[in-house]
Amino acid sequence: MMVQLGYAQEQESWLLTNRFFPSKIGKKPSWLELTNIPKAEDLLCDFCQEPCIFLCQIYAGSAHVSHAFHRSIFVFICRNGKCCQENLSGNIKVLRSQLGLKNPFYPDKPAIESEDSEEIEVEVKLCKLCGCRGPLTCSKCKESNYCSKLHQKLDWGTHKLRCGISEETVDISNKTLFPEFEIVIEQENSDHVSKKESEKDAEKRRLKEYEDMVKCVEAGEMSNVYDADLNELPETKEDKKFGKFKKTIEGYEEQVLRYNRHGSPLWISDYGILDPSKVPKCSNCNGKRTFEFQIMPQMLNELENYELDWGIIAVYTCEKDCDIIGKYAPEYCYKQDLTKDDEQQSQIDMENMKASINELQQTRDDKQKVNNLNSTSKEMKESKSKIKSKQKNTKKETFEESDIWE
Ligand SMILES: [Zn+2]
Ligand SMILES: [Zn+2]
Ligand SMILES: [Zn+2]
Ligand SMILES: [Zn+2]
Repeated sequence: MMVQLGYAQEQESWLLTNRFFPSKIGKKPSWLELTNIPKAEDLLCDFCQEPCIFLCQIYAGSAHVSHAFHRSIFVFICRNGKCCQENLSGNIKVLRSQLGLKNPFYPDKPAIESEDSEEIEVEVKLCKLCGCRGPLTCSKCKESNYCSKLHQKLDWGTHKLRCGISEETVDISNKTLFPEFEIVIEQENSDHVSKKESEKDAEKRRLKEYEDMVKCVEAGEMSNVYDADLNELPETKEDKKFGKFKKTIEGYEEQVLRYNRHGSPLWISDYGILDPSKVPKCSNCNGKRTFEFQIMPQMLNELENYELDWGIIAVYTCEKDCDIIGKYAPEYCYKQDLTKDDEQQSQIDMENMKASINELQQTRDDKQKVNNLNSTSKEMKESKSKIKSKQKNTKKETFEESDIWE
């Protein structure tokens, strides 16, 4: 089966309601089954015990299993950056929901795309903040519902202005949730068609890439480096998987998701690869779980949250789409990070890059040299090793040099 790639795309929010069975990132979940909505207790982070918030959902109906004609996988994550622990996924929760073609909620014909087509109402009270089940009610107005004390507290800033005064019909965008995007799916293209660049354009592009890289190095933000261009990260000799990762996504760096059901994940590092035999059995049927999709680090760029981090999040689901009878069934995910070793390596790479950039800066007027430095990686390497030895001998000088960039 071909790998399918998911891209984040801005979309009118009415097109992302449950009626259209969306795949999407951010804001509230578009629940599929509408009576057994998950509670805060189902979505507690293993580490801080606070409810996770909605990250994304993938609609992937089954053509062969009639009770899973409609099928959505929901992913939730703890907002607390401290809960992003290396190669541990206790801060992420995955749920599966499915329905037959004939079901109590949706017509068996596709919905007509019209702005008037309203969301199909959930039959239970939902948390005003996060959209999960909200059994708690604001004691003052008895209008707003919440899943947890925390979400009531987080919402109080906006709610207190209207509490008891007027009904809040409009969903005020809150800073707790992630911004909303549709996930648009495309087939992975095996032949990379690259536009023919003129030498001048290429030169411009390389300089631009360098400038972006400088900014990232300054900020020390890994997620921005992904944004700039993963391919510009110097390849670590030790990590073959990272090299493969970069090569596989080359030309399609904005992909936020890779869907490859029953295939295997595209690992981001040689370290912390999950042994498939360690994937726990389906908690409903005790059958095998297989890989379904992975969330890519590029999704981090869309979230407006600079605390969260991951390499990849690989999601494993029940192979048979077993009948969960209307329930939201937990599925398994594994988070692979760029580990300490990688970080150390990328630290070294960053330092080298800084040094190269410094050199570039010093010789800015010497255009020929700038071009050479940019155009061939061989020369890059040479200049790097030159600088490396310089660093060794005169440590203080390097510090001073890098101060320019801080
Ligand atoms: Zn947490
Ligand atoms: Zn909530
Ligand atoms: Zn109230
Ligand atoms: Zn199962």
